[in-house]
Amino acid sequence: MATGQCKVVVGCQWGDEGKGKIVDVLAEDVDVIARYQGGANAGHTVHVGEEEFILHQIPSGIIHPGKRCLLGNGVVLDVLQFFEEYDALAERGIDLLGRIGVSERAHLLLPYHKALDRAFEDQAAEKIGTTRRGIGPAYEAKAGRRGLRVADLRGGERLEERVQEGLERARERIGGGSNGLEGDLRGSLQLGERLSSLATDTGFELTEALRAGKRVLLEGAQGTALDLDHGTYPFVTSSNTTASGAGTGVGIGPTMIDSVVGVVKAYTTRVGNGPLPSSLEPGMDQRIRELGGEFGATTGRPRRCGWFDAVLARYAARVNGLTGIAVTKLDVLDTIGEISIAVAYSTKDGGSTKEFPADTWSLESVQPHYETHPGWQTDTTRAKTLADLPKNARAYLNRIEELTGAPITMVSVGTERTQIIRV
Ligand code: GDP
Repeated sequence: MATGQCKVVVGCQWGDEGKGKIVDVLAEDVDVIARYQGGANAGHTVHVGEEEFILHQIPSGIIHPGKRCLLGNGVVLDVLQFFEEYDALAERGIDLLGRIGVSERAHLLLPYHKALDRAFEDQAAEKIGTTRRGIGPAYEAKAGRRGLRVADLRGGERLEERVQEGLERARERIGGGSNGLEGDLRGSLQLGERLSSLATDTGFELTEALRAGKRVLLEGAQGTALDLDHGTYPFVTSSNTTASGAGTGVGIGPTMIDSVVGVVKAYTTRVGNGPLPSSLEPGMDQRIRELGGEFGATTGRPRRCGWFDAVLARYAARVNGLTGIAVTKLDVLDTIGEISIAVAYSTKDGGSTKEFPADTWSLESVQPHYETHPGWQTDTTRAKTLADLPKNARAYLNRIEELTGAPITMVSVGTERTQIIRV
């Protein structure tokens, strides 16, 4: 029997919900933090005092001294990016010795995966809007049983053969425009030995930790609407971002997980292509984008903004089996006079639904039913408890809780660690 506690943190919109901040706050109370999917396309931003840390590959828990941080088998690992981040953290004085483990079963993302990603996006008639970091092609190779894993780095000749096969295949698929195909392939492979020294069996390590009574946090990247199975397919990422992906992505069974915290922003944003039903008219879109600093941490792309979409949040609560919700960026709405929530969608056939549709194309044409709430027009950034919040902000949160069907356990009112209300 495991006596420890295992919590999953998962995004409940289209990513960028502020998971980095919530993980950073929760990391204080745990012993081990593990990423379970995604690659360097995720960009978690954490603010500590005057310092800003943007982490793409290494779990943001690394900023907390002494915590063990793992990258699970569900992650695709860009070796160059990983060590760039590793060395930058070390340069900033973070002690990393014995603190990072990488699953032996994690797949390697090599430069030709990036070249393929760029080529596919450039050639596609219907662009997904990927970060062009090679994530899709690396997962495609994994599912196609052609991938290379961390454990293979010890493989000598066999490794070389498989790399050449991957390169050749990529060359065939890209055709004439194979510029940059090799990239720094040699550099990636030379780092193999260094990576091997961090290799571990994450499932074994986490199970042992939980059996020993330790506390574990499994950190999701992107969000529910970007899940390969449950998101707005095909405008999704290539992995299971939802809570059920957490067990698979680190190598533990579902019965080992005790709680699931879903992170939602107090409004909605989306980067990349695909439908955003509750999108705002241009003026308000720009206002919220500027107030919330809604520009991608990985690509700098402006995010599209929308009102809080309760249809999506309720769906996310169900798909992830949420035990609690963390609402972030409430303070971004502090100056807005009237705030809407999408509570249902009108469909093209004249009907209406409160369920998030599977048909992504129909999602393009739904009309949200909005409920309007009076704003609070008061600064919330110093609130420490729910009682410190203005009445209208509390009413807004109560309504989010009621519509989503999961209890709010945290509210974030600023970028700082201290700007958090625990309920
Ligand atoms: P993630 O990928 O889900 O971690 O999200 P991002 O890192 O892309 O976006 C989070 C950004 O919002 C970071 O710059 C955070 O510092 C910031 N942030 C997080 N929580 C809050 C909050 O409650 N209020 C404000 N104003 N900013 C926040």
